Amino acid sequence: VDEGAAASVDLLFIDLDRFKDINDSFGHAAGDEVLRVIGERLSDMFIEGAHVSRIGGDEFVIFLVDAPEGEAARVARDVIIRMREAIQTPCVRASVGASIGVARYPVSASNAGELLRNADTAMYHAKRAGGSHVWSFGKEDAQRLSHRRRLRADLKSASAARQFELHYQPQLDLHSGRVYGAEALLRWNHPQLGLLTPADFLDVLLESPANEATGDWLIRLALRQASKWQAANRMPFKVAVNLSATTIQNCDLAALVSEAAEAAGVCASALDIEVTETVVMSDFAAASRALSAVRRLGVTVSLDDFGTGYSSLAYLTRLPVDRIKIDKSFVQELTVKETCHRARAMVEAMVALARALGMRTVAEGIETETQFVLVKELGCDAVQGYFIGKPGSAARIEPYAEPRFGPAGASSLHDAGSGSR
Ligand code: C2E
Ligand code: CA
Ligand code: CA
Repeated sequence: VDEGAAASVDLLFIDLDRFKDINDSFGHAAGDEVLRVIGERLSDMFIEGAHVSRIGGDEFVIFLVDAPEGEAARVARDVIIRMREAIQTPCVRASVGASIGVARYPVSASNAGELLRNADTAMYHAKRAGGSHVWSFGKEDAQRLSHRRRLRADLKSASAARQFELHYQPQLDLHSGRVYGAEALLRWNHPQLGLLTPADFLDVLLESPANEATGDWLIRLALRQASKWQAANRMPFKVAVNLSATTIQNCDLAALVSEAAEAAGVCASALDIEVTETVVMSDFAAASRALSAVRRLGVTVSLDDFGTGYSSLAYLTRLPVDRIKIDKSFVQELTVKETCHRARAMVEAMVALARALGMRTVAEGIETETQFVLVKELGCDAVQGYFIGKPGSAARIEPYAEPRFGPAGASSLHDAGSGSR
C-alpha cells in the first residue's frame, strides 16, 4: 500500500487466540486447514477498499485505504464475530477467537513501518485484555512508547552519571523484636523526572545492556553498606538485594560476591539474595547452581513474593533457599473481611511448609498493627513493611535499636511506627 497516495490507511493486526492449542490437540495439518479457512473467510468478507494478507504463522493484516474514522474498529469487531463461527473440516471441529490491534496513518503513525509496529503493540493490549478484543492504538499508547524510548536512551548514561541509588527498608526479627537487616531497593534519581521507583523503569532496565553493570554495582554497594552498619554496631547486620535472572545466570555470581565482600571488608554472610519464583524458573538448573555456590560462601537466599508465581511446590524442596518471603498480597488480605479466612489458611500453610523444610518466613507489606499482630500469631519469623519502616536512605536505619515490637516494646508501638517514616 502506498501511504503517500492515500489520505488515510488503517491497519488491522489480527492474531488468533490460542491457535497453539489447535495445533497441539489436532496436529499441524489440521492447524494449516484452520488457517486456510480463516484466510478465505477474511477475503470473503468483501470489505470495501481492503487488502488482506497473512504475514506470519497465525497473523493476518487488513489494510483499509481512505476509510472514514471509526470504520476500522467496526470492521475489526465484524472480523471477530466471523472468526468465532464454528470451523468444520474433515479433521477439525473448532472455533477460534482473534485479538485485533488497530493503528491509523497518519494520526497514530507517520510511515508504514511505524503503522505496523503500533498496530502490533495495540494487538498485544487486545491479547492482554483477555482475547477476542479490539484495541485501537491511541494517544496514550504513543506517549507510553515514547516515554519508554526516552528512558531506554537515558539509561545508557544513568549509571556513569551516578543516578542510581539504594534505599533501604528495615527487616525486623519477631523473636527478638530487633531490626537485623534491611532490603536494598533500587531508585533512579532522574535529572528531569525526579526519583523513580522500579515500577517506573525496571522492565526497561532489565532488557537493557545497563542491567548487568547495575547488578554488579548493587552487590558491591550493598556489601559496603552492610560493612558500615556492622562496624558501627559491632554486630552482624544483613543487607538483602534483589537479583534479576540475567545477573544470576550471566556472571559468576559466587566469584563476584566473594570479591565484593573482601573489598568491603565484610563476611559474605552479610548478604541475602532475594530471587522470585519467576527468576528461578527461567532457568532452574543455572539458578540453583549459582545459588548453591553463593550459599557455600555463607550468603543466604530468600524466595521473594512467595505464593504469587505459577511454579509447583515440588521444586521448593530442591531449591537452595533459606527463607521465604510471604507476598504482601496475602498480608493485605488478612485484614479484609471477604478474604481473611482464605489468607489465614494460606499464611499458616506457608509457615508450616517453611518449617517442615527448615526455612524461615518473612511477611512482607505489613502496614498496620493488626497485620503485625496477626502474622506474629501465625508464626512468621520476621516482618517488613511500612508499619516497621518505609524504604529510605541508609541513615534512617537503626540496626539493633531497642526492641520496639517485642513483648517488652509493645507499649512503644506508636512511636516506633511513626519514627521511621
Ligand atoms: P519487592 O522485592 O517485593 O520489594 C518490596 C516492594 O514493596 C518495594 O517496592 C517496597 O517499597 C514495597 N513495600 C514495602 N513495604 C510495603 C508496605 O507495607 N506496603 C506496600 N504496599 N508496599 C510496601 P519498590 O521499592 O517500588 O520495589 C518494587 C520491586 O522492584 C521490588 O519488589 C523488586 O521486585 C524490584 N526491585 C527493587 N530493587 C531492585 C533491584 O535492585 N534489582 C532488581 N532486579 N529488582 C529490584
Ligand atoms: Ca524483594
Ligand atoms: Ca517481595
